[in-house]
Amino acid sequence: MMLAWQTMFSHLQAQTFPTTYEISKGTATATYEEVIDFYKKLDQHFVTVKMEEVGATDVMYPLHVVYYSKEGNFDIKAWKREEKTILFINNGIHPGEPDGIDASMMLLRDAAIDKINIPDNIVLAVIPVFNIGGAINRGSYSRANQNGPKAYGFRGNAQNLDLNRDFIKMDAKETQSLVRLYHELNRDLYIDNHVSKGADYQHVKTFLTTHPQKPGD
Ligand SMILES: [Zn+2]
Repeated sequence: MMLAWQTMFSHLQAQTFPTTYEISKGTATATYEEVIDFYKKLDQHFVTVKMEEVGATDVMYPLHVVYYSKEGNFDIKAWKREEKTILFINNGIHPGEPDGIDASMMLLRDAAIDKINIPDNIVLAVIPVFNIGGAINRGSYSRANQNGPKAYGFRGNAQNLDLNRDFIKMDAKETQSLVRLYHELNRDLYIDNHVSKGADYQHVKTFLTTHPQKPGD
């Protein structure tokens, strides 16, 4: 009975904070503005979620990170002392591959409303949208072999740089901001969400891991 009430409460709460993806029944991905507004609301309503600005980008908007901590503790040094496992998730490095943007919104909401249980020793740091310039530059025709969504961002950033090719040269301000945060967090796991754009993969999901002999990841 307790669980039934809890489930119903979670369901109602999820309806209070719906994502664009859910409202559109899976046919649309959130715009940059919708993503940031959504996380602002979560930040305001839940002590377990906090959004911060982490530096400049090549457009007029700052790069944001959204943290989830069950204890409402957002002190990275304290996380280190308490040996929390830090999951760092990056989304929208290629904004035309937006699945991670939408999935992360649902993940953080569902954690905030206790629909899912994030283990006590895990904290999350999520970049809502990394390539903001690309996300704002929306269209419907730059990824012809991809089945949806209706509109999506462009691969290049505001300088038309592919940010997934910028981690060594660091020409983009968003790369410089992300790398600073990356080192500050010294994460246990870094997940960079992409979509395989309609290529005929054998499996629904592909996990590509870093080769230990390659520098950095
Ligand atoms: Zn990609």
